[in-house]
Amino acid sequence: MTQAASAFERAIGEWRTALGEGHVRTEPAELAQAAATTFASSRRISAILRPSSRSELQAVARIASRLRIPIHPVSSGKNWGFGSRVPTADAAVLVELSRMNRITRFDEELAYVSVEPGVTFRQLYEFLRERGSALFVASTGASPEASIVGNALERGDGSGPYGDRIQHVCALEVVLATGECVHTGFARFDGTPLAPLHRHGVGPALDGLFSQSNLGIVSELTSWLSPLPRALAAVRFSIRDPARLPGMIDAIRRLRLDGTVRSVAGIWNDYRVLSTESAYPWQLVGADGVLSRDKLATLSSAWGGATWFGLLALYAASPEQGAAQRLHVERVLGPAVDELSIEARSGEPKSGAELFHEQDPGFRFLQGIPHEASLKSVYWRKAGGAPERDLDPDRDRCGVVWSCPTLPLTGRAVERAVQIAERILLAHQIEPLLAMVVQSERTAYLIPLIVYDRDQAGADARALSAHDAVLAALAGEGFLPYRLGIQSMNALPTPRDDSAAVHRRIKRALDPADVLAPGRYDFRKDWPDPE
Ligand SMILES: Cc1cc2nc3c(=O)[nH]c(=O)nc-3n(C[C@H](O)[C@H](O)[C@H](O)COP(=O)(O)OP(=O)(O)OC[C@H]3O[C@@H](n4cnc5c(N)ncnc54)[C@H](O)[C@@H]3O)c2cc1C
Repeated sequence: MTQAASAFERAIGEWRTALGEGHVRTEPAELAQAAATTFASSRRISAILRPSSRSELQAVARIASRLRIPIHPVSSGKNWGFGSRVPTADAAVLVELSRMNRITRFDEELAYVSVEPGVTFRQLYEFLRERGSALFVASTGASPEASIVGNALERGDGSGPYGDRIQHVCALEVVLATGECVHTGFARFDGTPLAPLHRHGVGPALDGLFSQSNLGIVSELTSWLSPLPRALAAVRFSIRDPARLPGMIDAIRRLRLDGTVRSVAGIWNDYRVLSTESAYPWQLVGADGVLSRDKLATLSSAWGGATWFGLLALYAASPEQGAAQRLHVERVLGPAVDELSIEARSGEPKSGAELFHEQDPGFRFLQGIPHEASLKSVYWRKAGGAPERDLDPDRDRCGVVWSCPTLPLTGRAVERAVQIAERILLAHQIEPLLAMVVQSERTAYLIPLIVYDRDQAGADARALSAHDAVLAALAGEGFLPYRLGIQSMNALPTPRDDSAAVHRRIKRALDPADVLAPGRYDFRKDWPDPE
């Protein structure tokens, strides 16, 4: 037995003692299943640990550090398109936190909830509904079974005024690789009501260290909740001529900057809408195996020839406020688009009753009701389509690779990025499914979704090559990604300053044995040579 193997065997033994036999998994079939993601990856998982409490998690970390075994935490592991639950380092031990699924605090008056990493969007939604709460949490297009903590730590986005999730969480409880525990903001003090209410507390704000990083394992955080609106409007709009895209984007920016639109707005191109609304049109595919723009045009009469579609939501405290918002949107956005329809609802959200019973899936999403409608679209290129239930893109070999370039929220930047992404994807024989998330007043995320069938020969390699080419071309324009997949952690340009050395020093200070998710957002390719 080699020394490394013996350290690993000792760690497994100690973890079994700390967690119980059944929560340390080493069966090869289970490990292989966990290592499956939505694109080709050769990374292996050497064991799976399932702690149930913070103290068990601390024991896991201490053992890993002492015996120098790399561990990789996930909350629910549904990070589809970015590597699912697969570690950045080969042969790491997966620490899966779904058993830590307690909702530890809830306050209707001050509108917050504290959750452990295993709490899912569905669980929190049910929790709020059972209590007749008039609050909601931003939900995502991913899955009702995804994790609020996991999504926040990846700086994901969702529906509603708090859709830019990481901006609306605080009081992180973090287990370091050393086994130490820190709380961010005021949460480090006993006996204060401020911990779940105030993000930075006093002094240096540590919370920024723990999202998109490998510096700690978050064992709890507080998420602020939005009040259900008394008036809610879904604004749907579209343009036919793609040359109108810049004008449409500039109008949206105006509405975000002036505060009329306070939530994340979504924009999709015709390919993306087709992939969510219809089965794949196999009969139209050319010899190159791709649905060309010309062929797509033959379908577009079904949706009035539109090339770009958008949805934004207006959340208002009263029907009167809602009416004023709608008027302003009609004035600003109306002239910039070909179609604009506004559907408005109002009601007294005493326990959200009226609004919660809305059947329209769009309205449900806007009120934080989790759904799987978008997830079905990753089966678009699978011959049999999506199963009715139990969707699992990893198991079903759906190909999904995402890149997420960040764009200035100007028409000219968006037009340029869209042209580049579309050209590169079509050159790789991949339909350019483009989505855009306007998550702030000043920037938007462009999401060129690469969706394919992993069972098709050569498709995996083509998809990853297209992803890399899009990411590099857009980064070359200064449009850097806001989030990275496990395969692209080293894809960023070299920084112009001393940040790589500082990253390394911070990593060494908090994780001296370098066992926590090595390679995840630590940009070690740029670390200076060892001193
Ligand atoms: C069709 C489709 C639609 C999607 N829509 C959206 C969307 O609307 N918005 C969006 O943001 N994403 C979306 N996604 C991407 C992704 O599926 C979600 O972001 C999902 O929430 C991430 O998975 P998770 O919540 O299970 O997090 P996890 O996979 O558990 O966590 C993500 C990563 O964060 C780190 N991490 C997790 N927990 C911890 C912890 N406790 N401590 C330290 N590090 C941790 C790990 O490195 C982990 O790999 C979509 C994906 C698909 C396929």
